[in-house]
Amino acid sequence: MAKFSYTVSCTTRNCLNRAHYKIAARWSDGVTAELKTYGLVCEKCLPAAFEESLRKQAACRRAPKEILEPPGIYRLEPGRGDLELERLFELEERLRQTSPSPPIPTETVPDRDEA
Ligand SMILES: [Zn+2]
Repeated sequence: MAKFSYTVSCTTRNCLNRAHYKIAARWSDGVTAELKTYGLVCEKCLPAAFEESLRKQAACRRAPKEILEPPGIYRLEPGRGDLELERLFELEERLRQTSPSPPIPTETVPDRDEA
């Protein structure tokens, strides 16, 4: 068998880097479930691509029984199936916090009851 070299290029337009991350969201219609891929990106394109995926996910129209979870970031690894990929929660958190328009505002209410 020929040597299988698994290289994936970044899906961002005009970017020729190798992709290291997969942005994907779990989707289900109540019968089947799958990972819906938003993009395969390099480190440089990740913040912008992740932000866009959050926007797309929020704007996505769903049927009543459909579930589409917020997108996550997965480490792209050769030979691994979608459901075996390591999810990078810390990275997601960090990018959500640096995003100029976070989808979930985490504003803390000033404590004025202290008297
Ligand atoms: Zn890129």
